[in-house]
Amino acid sequence: MKRFDVIILVLFCICGCKKLGKPETFTQDWLTMGTFASCTVSAENSEQADKYFKIVKDEFDKISKSFNIYNTNSIISIINRDAHFSPVKVNDNEFCIITNSFACSQKTETAFNPVCLPLIRLWGFNGGTNTTVPTQPMIDEVMERVDISKVICETNTIFFIGENMQLDMGGVAKGSAVDMAYDELEKAGCMEFMVNLGGNIRAQTLKEHLLIGIRDPFDKENLIGTLKLKSGEAVATSGDYERFVILDGVKYPHIIDPRSGYPVKKTVATTIVAPNATMSDILSTATFVLGKEKIDDVLYQFPDVAILVISKNDGKMSISMSNEEVFDLL
Ligand code: AMP
Ligand code: MG
Repeated sequence: MKRFDVIILVLFCICGCKKLGKPETFTQDWLTMGTFASCTVSAENSEQADKYFKIVKDEFDKISKSFNIYNTNSIISIINRDAHFSPVKVNDNEFCIITNSFACSQKTETAFNPVCLPLIRLWGFNGGTNTTVPTQPMIDEVMERVDISKVICETNTIFFIGENMQLDMGGVAKGSAVDMAYDELEKAGCMEFMVNLGGNIRAQTLKEHLLIGIRDPFDKENLIGTLKLKSGEAVATSGDYERFVILDGVKYPHIIDPRSGYPVKKTVATTIVAPNATMSDILSTATFVLGKEKIDDVLYQFPDVAILVISKNDGKMSISMSNEEVFDLL
């Protein structure tokens, strides 16, 4: 399930200068967490660049170890197995990511729902085996199990007071991993870098900003515009073309509206620029659910973000955006 929704147009203008003492640009790409990862760093030499790449990989591995629902030993699998019986202890970082997800859920009218795995599975995603459109009674039954008020997060523990509930960090794990890598690279003294995990990008640059291309969701060879990313900021895109299932001949995207129980059909793609990658990841998913009508409400809760929503209605595409200084459409 690769995501190539945003591409980097301009990196650092230090490529190619190999004079003594001047840093060079190094890039490494790899696959992890079911998607592609990429890191570009400015470093004195390849040994230093390799150290930086290892830092990033280690942070990604930590998140993957915690939140991989397919690994029976991950904390998320333990929570989903045991948190109905008794509170499950998690580490500080996991607790911070989980509780932040619930806080953002409340600020997005629960459009972002960290316990919507039963619904996601019902529609055939993330380990779900359904191959036909679920019936309304099936949806109604599962809706009971995605109620965030039935989750208690206290003193580094997670406890489900509802039955058969399941946590899914799929809409926030990659952004969190990018933030962790960002912090560690900064601590290690790397002056310019860009970290990209499945389209969740955060960069540090000495330039005024970087230019990031936004793909046309209907024609992946083309761009519909560019966006400006300032140093320290992050960008994420959620798209209906990234992952989908075909049930009874109809295509359904991987983002589910937890309030209706149905996959979201009105949004094609959302792109969010935010102060950090956790926020851009969560809000790209949440805004995908909320749609263009709720851009102002999202901005009210998260004033520091810029939002681009591509919608479709009767086959016609429309683009809505919050901030013309950030997005430059062709
Ligand atoms: P993203 O590609 O960042 O938008 O995240 C999509 C992933 O988030 C899906 O593959 C699911 O694992 C999960 N997801 C889908 N719908 C929701 C939702 N409404 N709230 C939270 N997570 C969701
Ligand atoms: Mg997201």
